[in-house]
Amino acid sequence: MIALTDVTKTYPGGQDHTLTALRDITLTITDKEQVALMGPSGSGKSTLLHLIGGLDAPTSGQIIVDGTAVHDLRGRALAEYRQSIGFIFQRFNLIPTLNVLDNVIAPVIPYRTNFNKTARARELLDRVGLADRATAPPAHLSGGQQQRVAIARALINQPRLILADEPTGALDTDTGTQILDLILSLETTTIIATHDATIAARCDRTIHTRDGTLTEPASSHPDRHL
Ligand code: ADP
Ligand code: MG
Repeated sequence: MIALTDVTKTYPGGQDHTLTALRDITLTITDKEQVALMGPSGSGKSTLLHLIGGLDAPTSGQIIVDGTAVHDLRGRALAEYRQSIGFIFQRFNLIPTLNVLDNVIAPVIPYRTNFNKTARARELLDRVGLADRATAPPAHLSGGQQQRVAIARALINQPRLILADEPTGALDTDTGTQILDLILSLETTTIIATHDATIAARCDRTIHTRDGTLTEPASSHPDRHL
């Protein structure tokens, strides 16, 4: 489903310097695979998620998702591609001035949809166990509840792919486990950047990043260990 070939991402540094965030990454991820991305801070995890999600463009190399050449997308096609991805962040990134329901709807507010936005958002809130908090402001919710809202928001477009950047990093262990359970229960192709080995162990496969490279073969399929 996802194939990266020789993907490199450099950022301009000061004075003729460039910083290589990712170097020659080649990687395949199959449909419905739930993959953990582990590595030290600064090793390129977020950059890799941003490139796959079309939030940033590679300096060189190819990123193919479901047959779409993501590295070639521009303008409206790129915006539509991003709409097909569910992003989940460490800090939830909810809009504080909107209530829970409107946060879930927020990604589709500017767009015409072939579904009823409010009805779907309510369904999703029900699915993440927050049907009764629809009118609350995010600040009235616990961290775990806020991440549940963020997960519902990520699902509003029925994403083909979920990209989660340290989704449990701001949560205590038990709450983090519940959030991971919820993400894995979605049975969607998922890449989760995490520092937590117990979370990685729950995924189908772990990809290790170090200094912008992968340190282990990235296309094996060991059995999932739960
Ligand atoms: P991780 O998520 O594993 O902590 P990142 O992907 O955020 O790593 O960062 C990889 C490297 O790229 C780091 O050295 C970081 O400082 C650098 N980097 C990330 N984003 C930018 C940016 N927008 N501009 C310049 N350098 C960046
Ligand atoms: Mg990061």
